[in-house]
Amino acid sequence: MTLKETEQVVTRFAPSPTGFLHIGGARTAMFNWLFARHHGGKALLRIEDTDKARSTQEAIDAIIEGLDWLGLDWDDETVFQSERAARHAEVAYQLLASGNAYKCFATPEELAAMREQQKAEKKPMRYDGRWRDRDPSEAPEGAPYVIRLKTETGGKMTITDAVQGEVSVQNSEIDDFILLRSDGTPTYMLAVVVDDHDMGVTHLIRGDDHLNNAFRQLAMIRAMDWKEPVYAHIPLIHGNDGAKLSKRHGALGVDAYRDMGIMADAMFNYLLRLGWGHGDDEIISRAQAIEWFDLSGVGKSPSRFDAKKLQNLNGQYIRDADDNALVELTVPWIEKELGIILSPAQRELLAKAMPVLKSRAKNLIELASNSLFLYKNRPLDLDEKAQVLLDADARQLLASIHSALIDLDDWTIVATEEKVKAIAEAAELGLGKLAQPMRAALTGSTSSPGIFDVLILLGKKESLNRLADHKN
Ligand code: GLU
Repeated sequence: MTLKETEQVVTRFAPSPTGFLHIGGARTAMFNWLFARHHGGKALLRIEDTDKARSTQEAIDAIIEGLDWLGLDWDDETVFQSERAARHAEVAYQLLASGNAYKCFATPEELAAMREQQKAEKKPMRYDGRWRDRDPSEAPEGAPYVIRLKTETGGKMTITDAVQGEVSVQNSEIDDFILLRSDGTPTYMLAVVVDDHDMGVTHLIRGDDHLNNAFRQLAMIRAMDWKEPVYAHIPLIHGNDGAKLSKRHGALGVDAYRDMGIMADAMFNYLLRLGWGHGDDEIISRAQAIEWFDLSGVGKSPSRFDAKKLQNLNGQYIRDADDNALVELTVPWIEKELGIILSPAQRELLAKAMPVLKSRAKNLIELASNSLFLYKNRPLDLDEKAQVLLDADARQLLASIHSALIDLDDWTIVATEEKVKAIAEAAELGLGKLAQPMRAALTGSTSSPGIFDVLILLGKKESLNRLADHKN
């Protein structure tokens, strides 16, 4: 399983397009991509769309969009498995010609009876090799057949998995499985092996739900005398309660997390740490991930998905993000919410507000909605809490604040704060008692950045007008 220095690493992500790109799939994609990038090799994408009934274009689009969003790019052309059926069949016939496979003419009824009997005798239900040593001439003229692999019967097969270590099965447990169906279509098992070989895949990194398949696939690889890949079967992701991840745990497509305002880099970092570690490092950039990623850092036990941790990490990414990058990410939300197109000046205002806005948001939607006050038209609609807050006393306070600020020329945080503090002291009130009605009048809600930041961002004229709208 050691990699020769000269060999180019080739990995692949091979999703079946039967649904969205769920987070387990996204993580598998990332690990393949990172391993290839780390080794300066190739990361390939293969869409396993052989199950025509379950594969949809919509799912293909969603998967590709999800991968794009995560910033995972792929080398060479995307391979569509369904387009390669003729090549798959060719290999089945090659195995037949070399004596490593055989035609099985057993009818469906015969096989059903075989299974019934095995069940009755409490034996494992698997194909019993009834056509393994029979001559095809014994079959009725023109009878349909499948092609089965002639697997080893004695001994055991061992895989040295880069994550799971040595894993063995008795060869007797692997029956002579079907390569080519009677209608000439390849089975999934055949298609995967042929495609991986033809694409030159050196490392198979995938969920450990495929470990059982690996033995069958390896049997085929050996029968073809092809080079064996390195297997790395990564443990599945579990929910916070330790059970296999399901919708109940919020196991959604990555697009849903994007729509929740999770930053792609935060998602990347979170999924990376879900099953792979580098010491105690929590915040890992893409460049570091490429530099550090290896299979020895992949844990053997299932990791637990924790939506809250993802949100916290996202908050951290937002705090650390470049202000202009955040402007780009939030403008679409703001424009959609308000039904306007932001002018260059309004974008500039957002960039100016970003340092105070980003310190308190856990996701991009929160960030965008906290910025809406900047663009609202007067008189502001007050939300329910703001309405309650602006009682007669509060409106009276707003009047005092308004008249204290109207003559202030030095419109700075320090100067405005000094004025408002003086009113608070004169009225023997805490600063908060004044800040809350100000916030309600200035932003229409009861939560916003620091109130003096708000005054500065809105500017003197707009601030005074908004205060005037709600004062006595
Ligand atoms: N198409 C399979 C899946 O989506 C993956 C096959 C493989 O990685 O070998 O689960």
